[in-house]
Amino acid sequence: MQTPTDEKHCQLMVIGAGMAGMAATLFAVKQGLQVAQAGLTGEVIYASGVFDLLGVYPPEKRQVREDPWRALAELAQAEPNHPYARLAPQEIAHAMDLLTEYLGEIGLPYTGHPTKNTRLLTSVGTAKPTFRLPISMAAGSEALAQKAPCLLVDLVGLRGFSARQMASTLAHQWPDLRTATVEAPGPVVHGPKYPEHVARTLEVEAERDAFAAAIAPHIADARYVGLPAVLGIYKTPEIVAQLEERLKVRIFEIPTMPPAITGLRLKEAFESHLPTMGVDAYYHYRVLSVHPASSGGFRLEIGKNDTEQVVHADTVVLATGRFLGKGLIPERDGIHEALLDLPVHQPRHRDRWYAGAFLAPEGHAVSRAGLEVDDQFRPVTADGRVVNDRLFAVGSILAHQDWMRTKSGVGIAVASAWKAVQAICAA
Ligand SMILES: Cc1cc2nc3c(=O)[nH]c(=O)nc-3n(C[C@H](O)[C@H](O)[C@H](O)COP(=O)(O)OP(=O)(O)OC[C@H]3O[C@@H](n4cnc5c(N)ncnc54)[C@H](O)[C@@H]3O)c2cc1C
Repeated sequence: MQTPTDEKHCQLMVIGAGMAGMAATLFAVKQGLQVAQAGLTGEVIYASGVFDLLGVYPPEKRQVREDPWRALAELAQAEPNHPYARLAPQEIAHAMDLLTEYLGEIGLPYTGHPTKNTRLLTSVGTAKPTFRLPISMAAGSEALAQKAPCLLVDLVGLRGFSARQMASTLAHQWPDLRTATVEAPGPVVHGPKYPEHVARTLEVEAERDAFAAAIAPHIADARYVGLPAVLGIYKTPEIVAQLEERLKVRIFEIPTMPPAITGLRLKEAFESHLPTMGVDAYYHYRVLSVHPASSGGFRLEIGKNDTEQVVHADTVVLATGRFLGKGLIPERDGIHEALLDLPVHQPRHRDRWYAGAFLAPEGHAVSRAGLEVDDQFRPVTADGRVVNDRLFAVGSILAHQDWMRTKSGVGIAVASAWKAVQAICAA
């Protein structure tokens, strides 16, 4: 960070470093814009690392969808205000492809059926529909589909993952599923093991051989071996390949409880590569204030507590998330947008935020609160007026979507980011 008096100019300031902010920054810098970005890591470190597009629709029927494109077409008809309804299917597909291609280029390869959702094995022994998954998880979906002879492995002391629990949930439908418990890689220490420590240990080649040797006696007839998603942070494909070569089985990772290593991988990948593409990055800093300038554009103050940097930006993309990201602040008198006090679509009264029952089929109105936008993803007032021509909003801060119930978190983030950047470049 520079001295407090430093002032800079950029064409685009992206506020937020969750999936929406990272995607907007990537798309913009690839289009040749001069981009600055600020934000803490956000929900990314809680993420399972899989990219949902639309896994459940309609949510009140909890209908799991194999074909997300058909589900998207139904959604666009039924919910014209939903962020997805502002995008053509080809645009959504293109945005997801751009993101996953980039992640592949920087060593975090993703896979998935070209057009359908994949059923992913979760740490509670259920199958979750998702669109793109880290390549290190792919063999788990194969094993699940075939109900192939499979071994799930617990690591002594590792919290947030239980192979035995998974196997007991799946026992009735997967007879060839067994479990084993082995020591976690690294020196034997008593007490809890932390996923990050295990993942960092496996970055060391020699440790992988010792780990493979610990698993080997349990393999028997297993053709697949499932492990918690702790197989490294930077070299996961290499680690999976080495274990497969040593054990002569297909290895797969299973997402663990948040905060997860899979989220950390994404954070590290973006934070180390985007700056090398020319992004002026203020990771771990907040934008403290944003003021539209009378001459056009915006003046932003950035810092931890006090202003350390002033940035003048022609355009701003707001990707500050919902409640967890702190883009929206719930207060006694209602939900407020934190930085610009933008109008927030929300129930009229606080007592309407939640439906009577936690698992009410219709969901909670508060989960659909957020910013209303036009077709270019610019925030609008309740009567539809664009707040500022050069201000855009993307990701989970958007109104009229309940990403959690519809399994569409990353999809909405990435697709809205792409559309906003197209609009910025076209202006
Ligand atoms: C536990 C959990 C598991 C999930 N699992 C999945 C999954 O399996 N699949 C899936 O598709 N999606 C999943 N999601 C959802 C997905 O991670 C998010 O919906 C999606 O990434 C949208 O993120 P976002 O960038 O809009 O918001 P966020 O991730 O909340 O990011 C907001 C960002 O804005 C920053 N910010 C806020 N205020 C300021 C400020 N003043 N200045 C600077 N920066 C600011 C925050 O620091 C943060 O970086 C999961 C989410 C959670 C919480």
